[in-house]
Amino acid sequence: MGTSCQIAGCKSDTPPALAERRFCVLHFTLTLETRCSEMRRETALGNAPQERQREIMKFITENGECLARVATSGLHLTDDLKARILSTFLTLMNLRENLDRSNMRSSFGRSGQIR
Ligand SMILES: [Zn+2]
Repeated sequence: MGTSCQIAGCKSDTPPALAERRFCVLHFTLTLETRCSEMRRETALGNAPQERQREIMKFITENGECLARVATSGLHLTDDLKARILSTFLTLMNLRENLDRSNMRSSFGRSGQIR
């Protein structure tokens, strides 16, 4: 018997790739989406400190890698879950892009130069 998901009321098992996090695939993607939208709000203003930005970058790469492992570990995933995984990848990629963009704004915005 596998470890079950940490979300109350969820009866799904945790796949080996998510054993440490104790999430089922669905709740892993849902949690990631929530965290990403929080971080997106945080970075949108372009005044997140450097250290925080590094933390967010780390969050993106770590979770992106983890998600890739889940997606390619040979689990039997429904089409619905596959679609959800892809859209979570997109969320991570967009967050990363946002971070770069707000970085550019805060470094160069005042002088009006792009580079
Ligand atoms: Zn769950």
